[in-house]
Amino acid sequence: MNRRKFIKKTILSGVSVLTISGLNNSYIWGQTKGDSRLPAILGGAKSHLDLWPNWPVWRSPDYDESVLKVLRSGIWSRSKITGEFEKKWAELIGTKRCLSVVNGTNALIASIAQFNIGPGDEVIVPPYTFVATVQAILINGALPVFVDIDPETFQIDPSKIETKITSRTKAILPVHILGIPADMTKIMAIAKKHNLIVIEDACQAHLAEVNGKRVGSIGHAGCFSFQTSKNMPIGEGGAIVSDDEKFMDRCFSYHNLGLPYGTQVGSVSSGPFMVGSKIRFTEYQAAIGLVQMKNLERDTNIRWKNAKYLSEKIKAISGISPAKLYPETTKAVFHLFPLLYNKNKFKGMSRSLFMDSLRAEGIPCSSGYTPLHTQPFIKAAFESKLYQKVYTKEDLNYENFLDKNMCPMNDLICNEEAIWLTQNLLLGDESSMDNIANAIEKIYNNADEIVRKFKNKAI
Ligand SMILES: *Cc1c(COP(=O)(O)O)cnc(C)c1O
Repeated sequence: MNRRKFIKKTILSGVSVLTISGLNNSYIWGQTKGDSRLPAILGGAKSHLDLWPNWPVWRSPDYDESVLKVLRSGIWSRSKITGEFEKKWAELIGTKRCLSVVNGTNALIASIAQFNIGPGDEVIVPPYTFVATVQAILINGALPVFVDIDPETFQIDPSKIETKITSRTKAILPVHILGIPADMTKIMAIAKKHNLIVIEDACQAHLAEVNGKRVGSIGHAGCFSFQTSKNMPIGEGGAIVSDDEKFMDRCFSYHNLGLPYGTQVGSVSSGPFMVGSKIRFTEYQAAIGLVQMKNLERDTNIRWKNAKYLSEKIKAISGISPAKLYPETTKAVFHLFPLLYNKNKFKGMSRSLFMDSLRAEGIPCSSGYTPLHTQPFIKAAFESKLYQKVYTKEDLNYENFLDKNMCPMNDLICNEEAIWLTQNLLLGDESSMDNIANAIEKIYNNADEIVRKFKNKAI
């Protein structure tokens, strides 16, 4: 047995105190006091030794049969099970209707199109998001208008929205990024005042709540993703939810080659009446989704409980803070658990050296998004045939666009302050949360030494 296997086996068999002579310090752990105070990056004991929960996971062998049944039936294109999935998802989110689609990106594309938002229109969006949010605006030929984020909540800053509204603005696309609800009360009030559509990008925020109402059900429509990394993974998959029956009928038609709502899949007689794509869910996706839905509420509650506990512990450490939640947030679901890092409080330690120190403790982390609004895909859209025909030279002056869309808070968060822990870490037990906080504290207490040791190393 090699050393790694030996250690793994020992951990799995529940031995918590162990010293192995002849190994270096980082392999001596347990309650060995002296070493546990020294950061692992300086040769001390790691703060967290267990494996973190895997993601994605299939934890429902009892339900394997429901997926196999679909495979054996030969009914694979959308049919009854997809309908059942949609009914249950609408019930869970609290909307009249749900339409499942191939993925979250296409849920957004379809929603924007079916609210008749397109060439010549402006859509207000935060820059702190996954690229799909902005691609969905560009594919529809509309102009993204970026509103900076509130660095404490990571969400679109509602106080900066109104100055960006023009006669061309048609919609606000708030993103509940990281699984933390945006300030929907303020956003809905602004939208009402200016007669704007609100499409919630809830692709990271399954079951998050504002005043007890689930996100996705607050705006005119909500979009979800069931991609592998998300809190409810199917592999790929997405959903549109709304109370607006006409809008949902049109989304249905769009997702099924422009055929009327209610048309059977595969029928050719009823005649398409509008332009549509084909972005349908499959029966086996729906079968997997129905099983994953059973796990979602339980997982979400574990994440929420652990996130609250971890946030309190981290608040007690100087120089690092958890995300602030808006007062009306009744549940955040933390697809990612963000930290705000202030290197000045860590003796000038760079974010990347801090993250290396944290990883050495056994806590995986990343720096998250890079600024999106300055990446070349937007310029490429401006150079496309459609944009060249629809917009004026001034609209498409890229330097002007960059000037008008500056987002200094977003730049600061992306380039210097954000650190992400992925959601699966929050599925650990309370002692795992203690380990995360202890690791940070250890790095804080030894910041001087770490900075000194690594000052000549480019990290
Ligand atoms: C994942 C994600 C999407 C896109 O969903 P896919 O299913 O991957 O296409 C859109 N917006 C946000 C914020 C996301 O995190």
